[in-house]
Amino acid sequence: MEVRSYLEKKQKLVHRIFSNALSSGKVAHAYLLIGEAGIPLKEVAIYLAKSLVCDHGDPLADETCVKCQRIDKGEYPDFIFLDGAEGTVKKDAVSNVSSLFSQTALEEKGIMVYVINEIENMTPDAANSLLKFLEEPSEGTYAILTSKNEAKVLPTIISRCEKIRLTLSPRSTVVQEAVELGAEQDDAEILSYFFNDGGLVFEQASSDDYRIAKSALVPFLESLCEGPAYARYVMQKDVTPALFSRPTVRFFLDMLSLVFQDIATYQRGSSISLPSYGKIIADLAGKLPHVDSSLLSIMTLRGEAETNINSGLLLSHLVSVITKE
Ligand SMILES: [Zn+2]
Repeated sequence: MEVRSYLEKKQKLVHRIFSNALSSGKVAHAYLLIGEAGIPLKEVAIYLAKSLVCDHGDPLADETCVKCQRIDKGEYPDFIFLDGAEGTVKKDAVSNVSSLFSQTALEEKGIMVYVINEIENMTPDAANSLLKFLEEPSEGTYAILTSKNEAKVLPTIISRCEKIRLTLSPRSTVVQEAVELGAEQDDAEILSYFFNDGGLVFEQASSDDYRIAKSALVPFLESLCEGPAYARYVMQKDVTPALFSRPTVRFFLDMLSLVFQDIATYQRGSSISLPSYGKIIADLAGKLPHVDSSLLSIMTLRGEAETNINSGLLLSHLVSVITKE
């Protein structure tokens, strides 16, 4: 995604704060970017890190210089990225950053920057380690942290950071932008729930995880119209083998819960949020029993998918809870 134009158009406050800080040389040692699910916090955080070292910064990064490109490839030694979205950040990882960054910068720029995405997903030990590191800021070392859930972040960490809140774009705008960029309407409708930017939605529409999850979702929904026995068959024969990785299982369950929310909405007579799936939603609304409790079960299973290794078992359980009379 084009982070620079995203900031210019959608996150004017962030754009202004960083441009001013960089032009005046008054960059804070630690920033905490806060925003709701879907806001591209990780992308913005990495972009801001690039802006600190970019050769062509004016003052924000152009993303074409050698330094920006090395950051993208993970080949810039004075930049470290830890991702709480991919798994809980452990103490060792944070200690590693603080020991590497207690030495002198390796690059001539003399600036060391680390990004920790979704700091709410850290062990208490890791959070304490981070706090200690933030309490002793050294010259030329910068932290850019993000969180989707400020309530789960240690207040002492928050108070050490300059806090910046990003704003959510209306979903209809995101869908429209994505379609204008070339995304299919049905992809844009679903993905706009997970990615709050048209450019990002367009990119994600061709990602493997999404394509796989969608290729399992559509036949599964169709099989549910045919009754429990056929749904079990399709789940076993097509859906479970397709969803071979944990991210695809999660994506599948997230998408399925959106569709079930719409089925419940349709049954109440309100307007649905995935019109591209209108026909199948209407069909299922007339055929499925207890949609509200199924939705709850899907969400519970989605929580279990974070830790449960046996996705086959989880998915077969899913069919029984949805179809049992
Ligand atoms: Zn650059």
